[in-house]
Amino acid sequence: MDCLFCEIVKGNIPSKKLYEDEQCVAFYDINPMAPVHFLVVPKAHIACADEITQENSPVVAHIFCVIAKLAKEQGLCDGYRIVNNCKENAGQTVRHLHFHVLGGGPLSLQMA
Ligand code: AMP
Ligand code: ZN
Repeated sequence: MDCLFCEIVKGNIPSKKLYEDEQCVAFYDINPMAPVHFLVVPKAHIACADEITQENSPVVAHIFCVIAKLAKEQGLCDGYRIVNNCKENAGQTVRHLHFHVLGGGPLSLQMA
């Protein structure tokens, strides 16, 4: 299987990692859309949010705990946005579940 974020998780493709534990990795987005923009991904391959199940969902709760910790560390005390794009119509380009964390200033309110 050819998955960019699996390769980043394994360290085969370089990234600017800001956090790693046994379940997930966080790294800065290569094309930042906000002053602070990082991605948090599960180490296990899940293609998209549509493939979250009772069995694999604990990592999602874990990722949200990690996001809260990293947001504090990154100084996002005035707020931030968590974004997940699921499949083509939402513009998902990398088919490995990932949560964008965007902040560092006021964000546009555009939702679609
Ligand atoms: P999405 O459009 O929601 O699938 O988001 C994919 C994100 O991955 C985009 O914001 C890209 O800029 C980002 N991205 C693609 N390749 C890399 C990479 N090698 N390192 C870090 N971020 C990447
Ligand atoms: Zn993957």
